[in-house]
Amino acid sequence: SGARVRRAQNRKLPQYLERGVDVKFEDVAGLGKIRLELEEIVKFFTHGEMYRRRGVKIPGGILLCGPPGVGKTLLAKAVAGEAGVNFFSISASQFVEIYVGVGASRVRALYQEARENAPSVVFIDELDAVGRERGLIKGSGGQERDATLNQLLVSLDGFEGRGEVITIASTNRPDILDPALVRPGRFDRKIFIPKPGLIGRIEILKVHARKKPMAEDVDYMAVASMTDGMVGAELANIVEVAAINMIRDGRTEITTDDLLQAAQMEERGMLDRKERSFETWKQVAINEAAMAVVAANFQDLKNVEFLTIAPRAGRELGYVRMKMDSVKFNDGFLTRQSLLDHITVQLAPRAADEIWFGEDQIYMVSICYVIQFIDVSDIQLSTIWAETADNARSAARTFVLGGLSDKHHGVSNSWVADRINDLDTEALKIVNMCYERAKEILNQNRKLMEALVDELVEKKSLTKQDFVRLVELYGCLKPLPPSI
Ligand code: ADP
Repeated sequence: SGARVRRAQNRKLPQYLERGVDVKFEDVAGLGKIRLELEEIVKFFTHGEMYRRRGVKIPGGILLCGPPGVGKTLLAKAVAGEAGVNFFSISASQFVEIYVGVGASRVRALYQEARENAPSVVFIDELDAVGRERGLIKGSGGQERDATLNQLLVSLDGFEGRGEVITIASTNRPDILDPALVRPGRFDRKIFIPKPGLIGRIEILKVHARKKPMAEDVDYMAVASMTDGMVGAELANIVEVAAINMIRDGRTEITTDDLLQAAQMEERGMLDRKERSFETWKQVAINEAAMAVVAANFQDLKNVEFLTIAPRAGRELGYVRMKMDSVKFNDGFLTRQSLLDHITVQLAPRAADEIWFGEDQIYMVSICYVIQFIDVSDIQLSTIWAETADNARSAARTFVLGGLSDKHHGVSNSWVADRINDLDTEALKIVNMCYERAKEILNQNRKLMEALVDELVEKKSLTKQDFVRLVELYGCLKPLPPSI
């Protein structure tokens, strides 16, 4: 019957071929100069003969490195789309099977199909799943993986007509790949795709807004400011969720507010609408307001974008978003002053507890903030700053947990253990200074704090504009003398 014939035809279709890939570079936003590198890869297809005649080696493989969701898959598709060639894709985790030999035969089948349908792009997602350095996994799972990796190496090497099939692989861990994979002639070209910056985020939002009924006055800058640290996949999702908001409310245009709400949701999950006592709201409001007020005093942190005490399902009670794009980095590391400012902001809720509730009311919330700080400091790993970060870590532990916890976070555990006494003394000094500074700022800004707390308890969330209005009315943000 017809159905059986169709099934038979389907079976003959190449397994890994994705039909109708019509992604173009214009669909991938925020790339900056990276685009030029990818345009060159397109030329290997469209002008292959020219390259070969001039003796230019066409790479066998290109490695797109970067965190999940930055658009690596999309880019690989765009290369195929721009070159007008076939696109084959597989996730490397699909190679890895329990039975020895299965992964290897899949690799062989994939490349056979790609060659039969050349010119083509072969895209291998999560290459590290199979490309991890050999011998690291023991047992039969390791054997299977090694066999798969060997087959992949053979397939990469096996092209006479280089330029007919180009392999693009993605990974977030180029550092753990087997050295044989990155040897010349294999994945010998690495392209790093970072998370988008402010302008990149605006561009990505706009790309996804193209096919949506956006209000004319949508403030993309506001949305991009609220979303730093987010990747393309998350930004695309924000636009989708905003569209759903609009439809649910029976409106016909997506507004800035839809996008901002969707951004909140993307970042923090669904609103938790559980009832809370007035005291709880107030407690959380004091903590959040304290962070915002102290942050507003510091050069690198003064851009408070948003504060809220509306809790999200299973997450923290409240939240202050600061614009981190403006944080000054010194060769990639926070300056000492900026680091101290961070500590001061993180200690602000605890300082506020002391001012408003008295010495013995240390809430769990404060402890959470200090632990959050530990994450912030993880990015500072030069020796000097590792020392400062470790100082603050130990200090946070001593100060908040009363020295009860012996758990260290970070890389240099044994080093810390050796010098724990020195560190604790130094760290305690730093934290005490920062803590006093936080109290000083809060005491100078009692009026502002009270106004913020009242408005937060009433409205649950304040925008940047609300915040700025109150700061202008009640704020006392004299720059402090550099006391540290
Ligand atoms: P990765 O492969 O890096 O994990 P993907 O390419 O799968 O990321 O991204 C998932 C989706 O997110 C894309 O299909 C696209 O809708 C969106 N996206 C990610 N990065 C970008 C970008 N730079 N420009 C536009 N859209 C993007």
